[in-house]
Amino acid sequence: MAKKIKGLAMRKIGEIGWIEKEAPKCGPLDALVKPLAAAPCSSDIHTVWEGAIGERTDMILGHEAVGEVVEVGSMVKDFKPGDRVIVPAITPDWMSREAQAGFATHSGGMLAGWKFSNFKDGVFGELFHVNEADGNLAILPDSIPVAEATMITDMVPTGFHAAELADIKLGDTVCCIGIGPVGLMSVAGANLMGASHILAVGSRPDCANAARGYGATDIINYKNGDIVEQVLEKTDGKGVDKVCIAGGDVHTMEQAVKMVKPGGKIGNVNYLGSGDYVFVPRVDWGCGMSHKFIHCGLMPGGRLRMEKLASLVETGKLNLSPMLTHRFKGFDKLEEALLLMKEKPRDLIKPIVVIEE
Ligand code: NDP
Ligand code: ZN
Repeated sequence: MAKKIKGLAMRKIGEIGWIEKEAPKCGPLDALVKPLAAAPCSSDIHTVWEGAIGERTDMILGHEAVGEVVEVGSMVKDFKPGDRVIVPAITPDWMSREAQAGFATHSGGMLAGWKFSNFKDGVFGELFHVNEADGNLAILPDSIPVAEATMITDMVPTGFHAAELADIKLGDTVCCIGIGPVGLMSVAGANLMGASHILAVGSRPDCANAARGYGATDIINYKNGDIVEQVLEKTDGKGVDKVCIAGGDVHTMEQAVKMVKPGGKIGNVNYLGSGDYVFVPRVDWGCGMSHKFIHCGLMPGGRLRMEKLASLVETGKLNLSPMLTHRFKGFDKLEEALLLMKEKPRDLIKPIVVIEE
């Protein structure tokens, strides 16, 4: 009889539950991995409770995990059972045309590099499948604990990607809209890329403290009035060179366009879970001639990205402990951690479930 695994699944929009299903099978290029630590993501909340990607029936959730390799396919060269690995949330098909065009994250179609908890079962199962193991796994360095390493799978690469999309240069003044775990990593990314002033937008004091620790020079509370006015006030009416967006809604782009200088760049990684249109203000956008650039993206995944980000943690340039505010122990705690993410108490940055150290 086929082996069964247990997993925390989306039963349908608005409902989660534990299910049993057949264990995944390993293709020649692939690996099967068991999670050692895993974390829920705000994207899981958009998926289940906002129905942001449409209906999914009994799909195992989760896309943030580090794990231990259990099986590899016959053509896998660099990994073997027993290896401890970082598994990126985005696992592209590296032989696709999109990868050859430089956008592996969209391999097989828009956003299709995002497979876990989107097109296939995610990492909240006792065993999960990783396509193209040599291209998508990275060895977990011994010096990085599994909890911190889990942040390298999605929060770090996504937050940093906002800073990359905004093309931050030495000395830039930057506004980071949103300082949840992703936005905090935008702040850290902007700081590492050489931003001078970093104006961070959020309302929760614990996030604001963490943002200061990652390099924010000013905190702006969006609940205290229009953030455009607050940014203009803090920049002598000049606005900012760059904007990273990792929070807000379909109206946030409008604010970003208003606060960025002509020639400025906006990097959005926020996942807009609802609304039909994103608003761009015509006049503030120079009637279409402002050289205000809007860039948006899904995080780049893959092995090299994981290895490079891990090296920032290994060398002490990036400390991920302040991200982990709520720690759980044991596979069964995934449900509690996910529901906590949904509730989002004010002191929560990121919950983490350690299954095995
Ligand atoms: P959180 O919900 O934890 O953080 C959102 C942040 O935005 C908080 O700081 C919040 O402030 C702030 N915020 C909320 N409303 C507004 C508003 N109207 N104006 C300004 N700021 C506001 O989310 P995460 O950090 O976990 O994730 C951020 C986004 O990134 C999510 O949409 C997530 O799905 C997405 N994402 C995208 C990925 C990609 O590859 N592109 C991958 C992973 C995640 P406060 O709570 O303090 O009030
Ligand atoms: Zn995510």
